[in-house]
Amino acid sequence: MAKPMLPPDSTFPAARRVFTNRNLRLESLGAFGFDMDHTLAIYDTRQFDRLSFELALDGVLRRLDLPPEVRDVRWDPAAAVRGLVVDKKSGNLLKVDAYHHVTRARHGEKFLDKEERRDLYASGRVRLGTGRYRSFDTLFDLPEGSLYTALVARVDAVAAGRSRPDYRALSEGVRAAVDGTHADGSLKSHITADLDRFFTRDPHLVPTLQKFRDAGKKLFLLTNSEPSYTGAVMQHLVGGEPGSWVGLFDLVICSAGKPGFFVKRGDGEPIPVGQDARLPNRNGNCFLGGDSFFLEKQLGISGDGILYFGDHTYGDILRSKKSVGWRTAMIIPEVEEELQALVPLIETLRELGRVEKSLDDLVMRKDHLRTGGGDPDEIAALTALVTQGLGRRGGLQRKIKSAFNPHWESVFREGRAASRLGRQVMEFACIYTSRVSNFLNYPTDKFFARPVEILPHERGILPES
Ligand code: IMP
Ligand code: MG
Repeated sequence: MAKPMLPPDSTFPAARRVFTNRNLRLESLGAFGFDMDHTLAIYDTRQFDRLSFELALDGVLRRLDLPPEVRDVRWDPAAAVRGLVVDKKSGNLLKVDAYHHVTRARHGEKFLDKEERRDLYASGRVRLGTGRYRSFDTLFDLPEGSLYTALVARVDAVAAGRSRPDYRALSEGVRAAVDGTHADGSLKSHITADLDRFFTRDPHLVPTLQKFRDAGKKLFLLTNSEPSYTGAVMQHLVGGEPGSWVGLFDLVICSAGKPGFFVKRGDGEPIPVGQDARLPNRNGNCFLGGDSFFLEKQLGISGDGILYFGDHTYGDILRSKKSVGWRTAMIIPEVEEELQALVPLIETLRELGRVEKSLDDLVMRKDHLRTGGGDPDEIAALTALVTQGLGRRGGLQRKIKSAFNPHWESVFREGRAASRLGRQVMEFACIYTSRVSNFLNYPTDKFFARPVEILPHERGILPES
């Protein structure tokens, strides 16, 4: 019997587990597809984001007529997180909850208070999907958040209240500049010149893909990256003889143009054989563009026979599931980061739960006494206990908060509620995990069973898993 590569399911760290939203039986799937960037390819985000920020800043300065004071803005790795929304009109970065309530708003360097938020967002909510907002659905978007908010701070300082800066033009300039660095090859030429610096090689990636192949799954690569970049990155991740990585896949589609790939467009174009040593297309199975119908025809498998692994909330996960009924596995490195921060806090979180429960009880007793004309001394004693409990709760909450992003905290939640991103993950991803190689810990016929849905009155009574 082959030795398992990693410890078995029950002992490996929570941060490396696969989490389930909807029942998924790996055995019943015929094909596994993979996005490349931020899915198979793990970027060193500190290196990448700094480069992206700096090149985009040059692009903004070329595009917009900005005062010289803006030139020395600095990249801040904590400025933005996935799931945030840009309000182009007001120049804000917003965190919104599952119901689109604005829970945090950053303007330049400062966060708006409750009143300021209420003045700007009537009813406290935003209507996403209009031209006023843009949401960050992939890790590629984070340098844009850092650049935008830094520039807003600078143009505000230069205007010094004399005039209202045009935040929309600034946001569109930043967007165009970031877009330009991806499209004109400038970003990618830096990356391909120093692949070791920009990617974290995962030694378990190839064994994971190989294990899927050995189980008889058809594998495909479906990426928006162009063939030359795909060839360079995949060659770096997989290694071996130039171009041999293509042998891991039954089908390779580059320049896919997702999410448009999931609407009818026509067949893909074969990539010329031997054009690039790193993507030589020796087996005639590599294409440019096309659509999901073409892909399904090539594979002979369609709809819910396909599991697609991707990182982009909208382009990979939502569209593939909604438009063509593929099953979805979302790759979210933040799961690993946040669990690594949370696990050492388990005792603190339990203590917080106990303090909150005791506060609930105290407040209930106090209300009961108050409405029933109870003893004022007893009411005063209860009030003192509530104050003490609130202080204790505040201390625990501060300790928990400090484990996350200093401005935005958890990307998946906002206080007691899920964030918009957290809700999207639950709604659109059948399963999710921090990296593709986590699947090496599971058998290839694994049945991922969704957790029990617990109603408030059942909590603490029914078993939760
Ligand atoms: P995928 O994740 O493998 O489908 O590839 C993502 C591709 O989209 C990469 O080639 C990125 O360079 C590219 N990309 C990411 N963000 C932008 C953007 O803002 N504009 C244009 N291309 C982008
Ligand atoms: Mg991607």
